[in-house]
Amino acid sequence: MTYVEEVLERVKRNNPGEPEFHLAVKEVLQAIEPVLKAHEAEYRKIRLLERIVEPERSISFRVPWVDDKGDLHINRGYRIQFNSALGPYKGGLRFHPSVNRSILNFLAFEQTFKNALTGQSIGGGKGGANFDPKGKSDREVMAFCQSFMSELFKYIGPNEDVPAGDIGVGGREIGYLFGQYKRLTNQYEGTITGKSMRFGGSFVRTEATGYGLVYLTEEMLNAHGRSLAGATVTVSGSGNVAIYAAEKAFQMGARVVTVSDSDGFIYDPDGIKLEVVKDIKEVRRARISEYVKAVPTAQYHEGKKSWEIKCDVALPCAIQNELALEDAKKLVAGGCIAVAEGANMPTTEDAIKYFQQNGVLFMPGKASNAGGVAVSALEMSQNSMRIVRTFEDVDAQLREIMKDIWLQVKAAAEDYERAGDYVCGANIAGFRRVVKTMREQGYV
Ligand code: GLU
Repeated sequence: MTYVEEVLERVKRNNPGEPEFHLAVKEVLQAIEPVLKAHEAEYRKIRLLERIVEPERSISFRVPWVDDKGDLHINRGYRIQFNSALGPYKGGLRFHPSVNRSILNFLAFEQTFKNALTGQSIGGGKGGANFDPKGKSDREVMAFCQSFMSELFKYIGPNEDVPAGDIGVGGREIGYLFGQYKRLTNQYEGTITGKSMRFGGSFVRTEATGYGLVYLTEEMLNAHGRSLAGATVTVSGSGNVAIYAAEKAFQMGARVVTVSDSDGFIYDPDGIKLEVVKDIKEVRRARISEYVKAVPTAQYHEGKKSWEIKCDVALPCAIQNELALEDAKKLVAGGCIAVAEGANMPTTEDAIKYFQQNGVLFMPGKASNAGGVAVSALEMSQNSMRIVRTFEDVDAQLREIMKDIWLQVKAAAEDYERAGDYVCGANIAGFRRVVKTMREQGYV
């Protein structure tokens, strides 16, 4: 058995019933194969892979809360503190019915390498609950957040673990979580990022993942003699990542023609009106189908995915596994030249292969959605210094960070004779930084 096979067996044995986590480990270990080949004996001796696939700490807890009718509900909350070699654990909280240990182990493992790519001092973590905020009142969401934090606060802190938002956790939830944290600890500190500007937030944090995605996409396109200017772009999702990816793509001269939610997608050939999407999703918290009421010339496709629409660039910004092989075939047939992931692992393994075999530039989320967590790290440093940097200042630094990620990813792929394979490049670049640091810190 090769070292990688041994480690994969071990991950399956120690984490039964966690297919998403098994797959994430397999994908990373496969992508870094050239590095492992060169260092196999050395890594085996220090049990490096065995250590890197084992979360440092993982917590699960009961979250009881009462709904508006007076009924009691019990959810399960989690925080996976995967790797602290580079800094305090850092990563979002996801509130979604699909959340379980497997999904969070996968996301926390990925986060470790993503955070390494940002060049900031942040380790990898992820958390959340199998709570569905859809259709819940503000009071119900607040009750849930307060109960969730009543347990989580024991395990987090500004130098220990700094959660933020993710799917189902936006500004409203972060406010309730922060309020309860402050009440329990008596500390007004930067333990959570993505805060409102009124209590320690950073400019650009809301926009960061979407903007960063577009900055990196533009770097990749430019390196291949192309640009977003004049390009037709399809975006999936209509949350934070999708909205601000679309906003930045428009600013760069592209025309974004789709957005979606889990019920269907909107096709607006004249260009998506972002003020309408923001009103539906950020103010009214309604379904994307409402868009056609405001813009009757647009089309709503119930139960369909936006990948059937012809485009130059596709930006999957919704959720894992939303872009499968049959979708990839449609995109290639429609002339798509680049795909960059805004969500975490939205593209299935066979779809990625299909893109790469058909000459489509493909950038994995680990690199292309790192802008959000990068600005979270800038929020942490502003909180420590008790300063507020300007929008322009943070935005310029975000752009630099995304450019640096692009250069790291490209160079790492070239170092191992995989030029153009950015899945390989992103994984190798992230892995190298984590591994170097872990080795310097001894057998921990
Ligand atoms: N949820 C985002 C991510 O997965 C942001 C995490 C953060 O800001 O800590 O990268």
